[in-house]
Amino acid sequence: MRNKIIAGNWKMNLSYAEAMALVDAVAEKIRGDQKTNVILAPPYIYLQEIAVRVHDHAMISVAAQNCSDKNSGAITGEVSASMLSSIGVDYVIIGHSERRKFFSEDNSFLSKKVKAVLEQMLIPIYCCGETADQRNAKKHTDTVREQIEKGLFHLDKNKIKECVIAYEPVWAIGTGVHASPQQAAEMHQFIRNLVKEKYDETIAGNISVLYGGSITSQNAHELFSCRDVDGGLVGGASLKADEFISICNVMEKIVK
Ligand code: PEP
Repeated sequence: MRNKIIAGNWKMNLSYAEAMALVDAVAEKIRGDQKTNVILAPPYIYLQEIAVRVHDHAMISVAAQNCSDKNSGAITGEVSASMLSSIGVDYVIIGHSERRKFFSEDNSFLSKKVKAVLEQMLIPIYCCGETADQRNAKKHTDTVREQIEKGLFHLDKNKIKECVIAYEPVWAIGTGVHASPQQAAEMHQFIRNLVKEKYDETIAGNISVLYGGSITSQNAHELFSCRDVDGGLVGGASLKADEFISICNVMEKIVK
């Protein structure tokens, strides 16, 4: 089913005390009877405690920012999807552009992570998006098509239904420049059409596709109002409780 989602990607930020203060502030303001699913993606080290803190909250879940493509073994420094599952994590962000860039994670490697996540009954939030050069060269749809085909389309109907897709143009991440509503609408429709062509209309209609890239409480309404945008993956603005809650509240009021 197509859910409204706002996910906060904290990346490698916040001390332990700051992280706990942020989760408590968010949990206090997000109502349990609202329709928007709120997902917090803190660094690994804070996941377990945050999962415990939000355990009884009906609308807040926890995501990891990454995981291994393997289940266990001699892989120093890695964390598996089964470990994440065992501490109450529900979602895993896969293929964020920073992982693609700084850790050379390519589409074929990411497809293995998606599989590993789904095998543990967790939900992948699969990120895709073009660089500025790719957009300027009018290769943005080709880029996103390839990312989605190679990273997700190995899944069968029952598995793709479980996934969330996040369209995050790389040129919009952390830059203060967000996609225009037209650009977002066009790409989200393109992504949904890809899913429809590969699977079927029902699956395409039900999959949640999030926009990410310099979302703030000021631009959230114009972006979230686009027909095929089901919410947002929020970076910088998710680190401030009031700003993040305002963004969640904008999504909550959107009626489509
Ligand atoms: C992100 O990193 O996923 C992101 C969207 O960051 P920001 O909101 O800071 O652009």
